[in-house]
Amino acid sequence: MNITRPFGDTLALIGNTPLVRLAGPSAEAGCDIWGKCEFANPGSSVKDRAALWMIRDAESRGELKPGGTVIEGTAGNTGIGIALVANALGYRTIIVMPDNQSKEKMDTLRALGAQLVLVPPTKYSDPGHFQHVSRRMAEEMPGAVWAGQFDNVANRKAHIEGTSQEIWEQTGGRIDGFTCAAGTGGTIAGVGMGLKEKSPDIRIALTDPHGAALYNYFAHGELRAEGSSVAEGIGQGRITANLEGAPIDTQYRISDEEGLVWVARLLREEGLCLGLSSGINVAGAVALGRELVAEGRERPQVVTILCDTGFRYLSTLYNPEWLAAKGLPVFDWLARTPAPGVEAAA
Ligand code: PMP
Repeated sequence: MNITRPFGDTLALIGNTPLVRLAGPSAEAGCDIWGKCEFANPGSSVKDRAALWMIRDAESRGELKPGGTVIEGTAGNTGIGIALVANALGYRTIIVMPDNQSKEKMDTLRALGAQLVLVPPTKYSDPGHFQHVSRRMAEEMPGAVWAGQFDNVANRKAHIEGTSQEIWEQTGGRIDGFTCAAGTGGTIAGVGMGLKEKSPDIRIALTDPHGAALYNYFAHGELRAEGSSVAEGIGQGRITANLEGAPIDTQYRISDEEGLVWVARLLREEGLCLGLSSGINVAGAVALGRELVAEGRERPQVVTILCDTGFRYLSTLYNPEWLAAKGLPVFDWLARTPAPGVEAAA
């Protein structure tokens, strides 16, 4: 039996996540599709890694001192990661987030003891954008540091030094392609850089949601967004410092509907409850797998990221009224009206 050795402290629980073969996506692509289970981190998302690396980086630069405060502007998951790491190290956390993010994320941040500052969603050029508000707060507060996940490359370093090394080891170096979507870009850039260093033949693909500008940037050299998406945590309109030099070989654009198909199938067929960015990533991985199969690579191995737990989206993705209001397909088991009394009695 393969038993993980005991850890001496809770921060060591971040990373070293399992890699799992996804049966449905593998069958669809005609190759092996693997999911890196980032929902298995203590904060249930891929962002625990970035939080730990950014806080350790601020400490090592002497900016974050005992009793200090970590401030960040975030759509949620980074804040959850920061709050957990900050608690474990004795720092305070202040999180600025747009008020249209899921209620679960807000409640979780409050439950973790973070101070929450909600701002209306607005465009990046507006000084009221959550990232600018959080940066100004950190500048004005003594003892505070701004994590700045978008342009702080300690974020992607977490994936160069952590995620990509783990993927290489877990696949025994037998990996043909990697793909995921970009929020800050830390994951795609960091894993891409780490894997390319191992083998330049590994194809790195960006999977972009609608409403983001990166697909057009990598396909046509022009930052231009088209359409929209309800996926939280992904969809970028600029080249962040984390994305600079990212070794992207190819790119796909995936709709919310395509992502939702995989969210539903992975839940129903494989017992995995995930957020929409994971579904979009899996759709991208199937596209990449098919491309590699079509080129004649023998039994290609493709890895993607299962970014966060679906339990974070019970009021949105897993809520039939919310899905219907957004014009999105409702999962058939949610659409079924329960017989009177069934839910109350259960
Ligand atoms: N999925 C979810 C749910 C996220 O919260 C994030 C982080 N913003 C991502 C994907 C993308 O990760 P990254 O910031 O490393 O690009």
